[in-house]
Amino acid sequence: MTETDSNIHTRHEGHLRFGQAEQHLEGEKHLREQEIPRQAPRIVLVGPQGSGKGTQASRIAEHYGIAAISTGDVFRQNVTDDSELGRQVKAIIEAGDLVSDALTFEVVRDRLGEPDAAGGFLLDGFPRNLDQLGMLDTFLAQRNEPLTAVIELGVSRAVSIDRLTRRAFEQGRSDDTEEVISNRLAIFERETAPILEVYRDHGLVDSVDGVGSLDEVTERIIGALHSRGILPVG
Ligand code: ADP
Repeated sequence: MTETDSNIHTRHEGHLRFGQAEQHLEGEKHLREQEIPRQAPRIVLVGPQGSGKGTQASRIAEHYGIAAISTGDVFRQNVTDDSELGRQVKAIIEAGDLVSDALTFEVVRDRLGEPDAAGGFLLDGFPRNLDQLGMLDTFLAQRNEPLTAVIELGVSRAVSIDRLTRRAFEQGRSDDTEEVISNRLAIFERETAPILEVYRDHGLVDSVDGVGSLDEVTERIIGALHSRGILPVG
């Protein structure tokens, strides 16, 4: 029995028979609304470095009570834990290179199979190129769980560079020079931006302005998702 079924059962207990139920109309309407199966939010968040994507990803996932899946975080955690995966990717991520598509997809596939992802998920940092998009698409199609929305978090190149150089300075990351940063943004433009075109053709993309306070940006994203009928439970 699903949670909704058991709610309905409990709510009905002790109620009057059908013909006498008119006074419960409001309550019944409420129950009917609850019965409509809520489609699990399955969201991809796309944005260049410095767009505030990671922060927004956690906020949105929390708002919907869904799993926030950041491939970057998974890799970093594995490096910290010195797991087998961590040892495989350590040198790659430290050099700022990309982990292979196959290995990255394996991580995502495993993570999507965990119980907390069954109620919906938000992917941050994946897919990062067209090949990864293809792998995700095939996987989700097999499970009959297509994406429900893709949020493009947009900031201008100048804003990205400004935020990233400031962060590099604050965190004393001398390796994050303007040149390295603009190189990463170029990779984003070349490899990641094209996935938005594919998703756009499927009518999945909402573009959200990433310039503003954290709260403003969160509200814009939630507003866009609500307009698609993607609502939190309860
Ligand atoms: P950044 O925004 O600094 O690139 P991320 O947190 O997105 O940070 O990722 C950190 C690192 O993890 C990347 O530099 C890359 O090596 C690896 N990584 C994350 N996501 C992917 C992905 N989808 N494909 C390949 N490598 C990835």
